Amino acid sequence: MSLIGWESRSIDMWIGIDDTDSPQGMCTTYLGALLARHLEESGMEIRSLRLVRLNPNIIWKTRGNAAIAIEAIGDPDVAFSIASALIEELADLSSEKTNPGLVVCGESRPPAAFAEEAITGFCTIEGAIAVCEDAGARYRLWKNGRGIIGAVAAVAADFSDATSEYLVYRDVTIHESTRCVDPLSLRLAEAVTYPGTWDTCDPENNLIVCVPHTPDPVLYGIRGNDPVWISLARHLVISEPPVLEAIFETNQGTDAHLLVGSVGNLEEGRSYCVPGIVASPPKTGIGGHVALRISDGNDSLTCMAYEPTRGFRDIIRALVPGDRVIVCGSYKNRSLNLEKIRIISIPPIRITGAPLCESCGKKMTSAGKEKGYKCRVCGARSREPCISYQERTIHPGWYEVPPSARRHLARPLCRGEPVSWDFPEDFLS
Ligand code: ATP
Repeated sequence: MSLIGWESRSIDMWIGIDDTDSPQGMCTTYLGALLARHLEESGMEIRSLRLVRLNPNIIWKTRGNAAIAIEAIGDPDVAFSIASALIEELADLSSEKTNPGLVVCGESRPPAAFAEEAITGFCTIEGAIAVCEDAGARYRLWKNGRGIIGAVAAVAADFSDATSEYLVYRDVTIHESTRCVDPLSLRLAEAVTYPGTWDTCDPENNLIVCVPHTPDPVLYGIRGNDPVWISLARHLVISEPPVLEAIFETNQGTDAHLLVGSVGNLEEGRSYCVPGIVASPPKTGIGGHVALRISDGNDSLTCMAYEPTRGFRDIIRALVPGDRVIVCGSYKNRSLNLEKIRIISIPPIRITGAPLCESCGKKMTSAGKEKGYKCRVCGARSREPCISYQERTIHPGWYEVPPSARRHLARPLCRGEPVSWDFPEDFLS
């Protein structure tokens, strides 16, 4: 039976939201989790809840440049009004930095290429509106409307690799930076579920990583390979009573931001993996930041391991000129901020010194510039130096910054070796 004059459509649709928070509070993931609950309460079926991390170098980001997409079965017009009302109610519109965007699309989604550019590079508001129009999507911009970029990217994203995050929230009106989460329970959760989950703690530096210190509603978040591992960990955590929880499918921990690059050919604000040869001894500067220069024979590139990367800097300091590496990180202010590094080859360090005297076995000394060596005991002479090789303290392989310094998109090594990028075989062997 159908009711004349009343039409309700129920289709597979995607809802994208972004830029609802400010440095003073709120979080788009919280709004997304709450929106999913409201849609469900209105009778819609939620098929997936996605947390999409975008280019980490975007200057407008409040914290981690996240946007949210929800796939649901329902009426797009109803979803659009529910989402609009929730943004009006919860987004921190009084903040100059909060410029929300909302998109709802049906059968036709904006192209995945738009999301790829938003994750690896830069998009414009006009570009986001154009792809919405092409896809026949409903969209809305608040204030300067920049959030439409993230909202569109979130619904357009195709994940070739995906991980999960279990986000647990406290009341949105609480703005204190401290949270009541039992650190022992977090350590236990990680011990039981690692490497199915990661970045709950940073054991090497004795830090808790998964509890933020910002004034937003996130109580803690457990990251891992899939919903089963993160759920197991979450249920081991003891904390103040949460008000809301949700499991997100995400592109966190996938290296989706990294492009293959070459020294001398990098664009500001993008992130790369770059092959090269260490060109000069690493230098530790003011504040403990370590600078490493690599070269491709023509151009050179400065790579930085900043102080918060802690023990990772010791790996960088142990490199010497001639070592072959692949560096990964964001190119900002004309240097690459290291997230991880692959050491491909480390030739032994050659040390040239005075030889032992063949007649009396004593160590010879220099006889003067380009005059070889002479024995101060028996007067014997030699032109040949003694050559020895110093043991290296590092080995070929991948090295990464600790969890406390990891960017959201960076793939932790506990997920397995990074995907093999297309570098020439002779460089890699
Ligand atoms: P929130 O929790 O609100 O999402 P956030 O740290 O994720 O906080 P936003 O407040 O969303 O950051 O600010 C990021 C802004 O930058 C958004 O308006 C988003 O649309 C925009 N943006 C994200 N990625 C890009 C990009 N690649 N090019 C241009 N603008 C972008």
